Amino acid sequence: MAELAYEETFDCVQCGYCLPACPTYITMKSETHSPRGRINLVKMAAEGKITYSELEGPIDLCLGCRACEVVCPTNVQYGKILESAKEAIQHHKKESKTMTKRAKLFQDFVFDKAIPNNKLLQTAGSGLALYQKSGLQTVARKTRAINLLPGKLRTFEKILPNVEGPIERRSRKEHYPAKLRPAFRIGFFTGCIMDTMFSDINTKSIKLLQEAGCEVTVIKEQTCCGALQNHSGETEITKKLAKENIQAFEKYDFDYIVNSIGGCGAQMVEYDKLLADDPEWASRAEEFARKSVDISVILGQVKLPFVKEISKVVTYQPSCHMTNVQKRVQEPLELLKKIPGITYMELPQKNMCCGSAGIYNIVNYEAAMDILDEKMKQVEKVSPEVIVTTNPGCHLQMKVGVEKEGLSDQIEVVHIVELLTEACGVE
Ligand code: SF4
Ligand code: SF4
Repeated sequence: MAELAYEETFDCVQCGYCLPACPTYITMKSETHSPRGRINLVKMAAEGKITYSELEGPIDLCLGCRACEVVCPTNVQYGKILESAKEAIQHHKKESKTMTKRAKLFQDFVFDKAIPNNKLLQTAGSGLALYQKSGLQTVARKTRAINLLPGKLRTFEKILPNVEGPIERRSRKEHYPAKLRPAFRIGFFTGCIMDTMFSDINTKSIKLLQEAGCEVTVIKEQTCCGALQNHSGETEITKKLAKENIQAFEKYDFDYIVNSIGGCGAQMVEYDKLLADDPEWASRAEEFARKSVDISVILGQVKLPFVKEISKVVTYQPSCHMTNVQKRVQEPLELLKKIPGITYMELPQKNMCCGSAGIYNIVNYEAAMDILDEKMKQVEKVSPEVIVTTNPGCHLQMKVGVEKEGLSDQIEVVHIVELLTEACGVE
């Protein structure tokens, strides 16, 4: 039986310092939806004072952004408490038959078979590319057939990125040698959703690293990082995926395992915690976590060949997982400030989550939109021409925000790699 992190709940002294940092407390204005409230509920569930069903709602509505963790004066391990609650609730639902056999099979299929299946995701990506490139999307929009979609699907259809089709995708190579003696030997982690929706950003990342003097290899054996599974309490599937990635990358002895995905990166830097109790895997997981870094960490250590000025007002929406879990705060900012011509404007309350949080904005749409509205109030204060992100989830969510506010003619949302490749003239 999955166990709640009961002992850890006693580290919370109920001081409330975390309340102003918590997006769900700010938007929902209730103790139940604060970090302190959730910790209390986990404690009560462990003591049998409330049921798992009573715990489920507040835990589901937590973004997992971990902004509470970094402001907590007693270093409460909120991430550990949250993950234990998700795992216990998931286990309880399966055991107590509150989840039908069919729902359980479907969920297992999605998390264990579909998301980690590159071929399946690429087929889905090709379907999306066909919809966009065949003119179907234009027709659907012109004839307002889009309006037949339910509200949230309609919202996301409007901000779909231009997905690469199978031909563009096939042009990605496996090995990108450095022009001179390589600064670093890099194993590039592509991610699953990232490589479906934003495969062009992955390709640009690889070319930028190569241009900056690195040797880059994209190994075929890699799989999904396990973040979505972990956030849904599927710890065993997460561990299985982590082991597959560790085994795949360790064969090559890369200097670094690099990604351009804040959320996946956060999952991978915690493989050591995930597998700490497994004697066969603990030290291998530690090594993998040590080598796993966001692309901004590498690009900050090499010389970028800037050739063009970007004369625009730029702001940056940090990914919570990059800030609060990977603790990479300065690296993207310093890179941005190096781009010739840009005017950087700090986003007020930038560390507040945008409401994306993996699939939170799909499963908790209304709550995510309330959080996004708060974020957009801050964006309007700096009136940027460009919002820079470092994670595909934040990227899509900020595009939704811009679209909702009717600002899509004025504000562009880009991944930091897109801005850097433009400034460096990398095609
Ligand atoms: S989680 Fe930390 S900051 Fe929040 S109430 Fe508890 S001790 Fe205070
Ligand atoms: S992880 Fe984020 S949403 Fe959840 S309690 Fe902490 S600050 Fe609030």
